[in-house]
Amino acid sequence: MRHGANNLAPRVGMLGGTFDPVHLGHLRSAVELHEALALDRLHMIPAQQPPLRGRPQVSAQQRLALLQAGIGDTPGLLADDRELQREGPSYSVDTLTELRAEYGEQARLVMAIGFDAFLRLAQWHQPERLFELAHLVVIARPGYSDSLPAALTELVGKRRVDSVETLMLKPFGGYLTLALPSLMAISATHIRQRISAGKSVRYLVPAPVEQAIQHHGLYQQRE
Ligand code: ATP
Repeated sequence: MRHGANNLAPRVGMLGGTFDPVHLGHLRSAVELHEALALDRLHMIPAQQPPLRGRPQVSAQQRLALLQAGIGDTPGLLADDRELQREGPSYSVDTLTELRAEYGEQARLVMAIGFDAFLRLAQWHQPERLFELAHLVVIARPGYSDSLPAALTELVGKRRVDSVETLMLKPFGGYLTLALPSLMAISATHIRQRISAGKSVRYLVPAPVEQAIQHHGLYQQRE
């Protein structure tokens, strides 16, 4: 149940990524994030061209199709293709600007990222501006410790809040790390490596994603 004057403000999350391919670490985190933040909707948004990494092996349309297959009819999760409609690098500030315009000034907008991605946040395009548009929720990931590089502490330190309730009092500007109940040591890199080595990815990705990967012969070659 939600209480207080801002009861009616929509709560909207964004989980961007390469999703090359989507796996159960993404999807289970998405479901638990949706629950933990009492979100109305979580937009899962594949990047057309991730600015800080090499070109994905499969096309953006294929990654989107796998994401759609993975989400299926999961309540509250949405495969959002907006970054595939834009030319050039996929900057989160542009995506958040669009979501802010769509959901309005009062919406609680949350950008969620895993701890590995968070460690590079200070190198993102206009990192300060992200906090004028949304809150940042960092999802703990197995294998990453809590200590932050100095540039990151400078960026997020003063924005840190200690609970979801405090975070959601305002529409944007806060930062919180969340340890979701089901930490999953699954990465897309590991999945691509297994497929190219002819090994099974069963129970690492949803069954429809495994079937689509097999059907289209994706990720067969070594990186
Ligand atoms: P890769 O291995 O290719 O780098 P990845 O598995 O980290 O990929 P991305 O598409 O880069 O997947 O991830 C999208 C977002 O989801 C990032 O913020 C990332 O930190 C987060 N994420 C990925 N895997 C997990 C996981 N197992 N648990 C929690 N968050 C995750």
